[in-house]
Amino acid sequence: MAKRDYYEVLGVNRDATPDEIKKAYRKLARQYHPDANKNDKNAAEKFKEVSEAHSVLSDSEKREAYDRFGHAATDGQFNGFGGFGGANGDFGGFSDIFDMFFGGGGRQRHGPERGNDLRVDMELTFEEAAFGLEKDIKVPRTEECGTCGGSGAAPGTGKKTCQYCGGSGQIQLAQSTPFGRIVQSRTCDRCRGAGATIEKPCSTCRGAGRIRRTRSIKVKIPAGVDDGARLRLAAEGEPGARGGPRGDLFVFIHVKPHHIFNRDGNNVVLDAEISFVQASLGDEIAVPTIDGEAKLKIPAGTQPGTILRMRDKGIPDVRGYGRGDQFVQVRVATPTRITEKQKELLQEFARLERDRTQDGDKGFFKKVRDAFSG
Ligand SMILES: [Zn+2]
Ligand SMILES: [Zn+2]
Repeated sequence: MAKRDYYEVLGVNRDATPDEIKKAYRKLARQYHPDANKNDKNAAEKFKEVSEAHSVLSDSEKREAYDRFGHAATDGQFNGFGGFGGANGDFGGFSDIFDMFFGGGGRQRHGPERGNDLRVDMELTFEEAAFGLEKDIKVPRTEECGTCGGSGAAPGTGKKTCQYCGGSGQIQLAQSTPFGRIVQSRTCDRCRGAGATIEKPCSTCRGAGRIRRTRSIKVKIPAGVDDGARLRLAAEGEPGARGGPRGDLFVFIHVKPHHIFNRDGNNVVLDAEISFVQASLGDEIAVPTIDGEAKLKIPAGTQPGTILRMRDKGIPDVRGYGRGDQFVQVRVATPTRITEKQKELLQEFARLERDRTQDGDKGFFKKVRDAFSG
């Protein structure tokens, strides 16, 4: 039989306030209470249905999960109740599905659990990122206590069965409510579900079995790693609970900007300044690359802003697919101070330039002159 919608069961709207839910529940619970409906199987079923709906909708976290996932979020949830419907009650405890949604939240789980991931941030220079390196990083993390081997018990002493829960790690709580007796089981808070307590705690870790320690871990940074990259070191995070595996360690890479090189993927981009003479006549200049100085040919007649490519002078690809290129953007500098001789030569150059453009109608200066003389 399909489960009825919890809101429908309580006869409230989906946006009902907690107060409205409580009121609706009280009314229906009184109506269907087993004491008032002896030998009425139908009423018992109804009572169970109403209680179940109330226990979900009155808990804001569960209600939210139910609103989002429907009954899938809560199935299995009610096997833990002994008070009603004991026939199908297999004491499975509360649903693991809730643990999935709420990350284990308030409920303790008893199987092995994977440890938490850790994050460390690492700052690299431009060159370190380009060529890679091995670096030691300091990672504060939880480690097994060496003195007690993780047991938490002082050497030579043992553990004894928890007297509070009798070693089961679980406590059954029987509650008398106006509607009957409800049995609920929860994790023993004396032994935290372990079923045993320590006779004499280890003095190094005070019985925790674990200590915080800053460890030095060698990290291999691959050549070509870029700003924002994340390296994963498997099983170097926090230890798991109850024998579970360690989490992972994530190294977040930050690359410091360089004062001349800029990076665009695997390419290096930089500016180079040449004189207008070099731009006109062409030249070969020395430019910095990440490998050191290299020669770059400036073709005659190079315009300002021209981008020249130097093949394979970029950053090695982090996956090993060759190297990027270096792109050099040419800036043409205009001299601010010149000698008398240079001035003479430039004036001579200007005269020649004028003669050259005189006869043609298309010269820029001629057009300007024409515009003014009408
Ligand atoms: Zn210890
Ligand atoms: Zn216990």
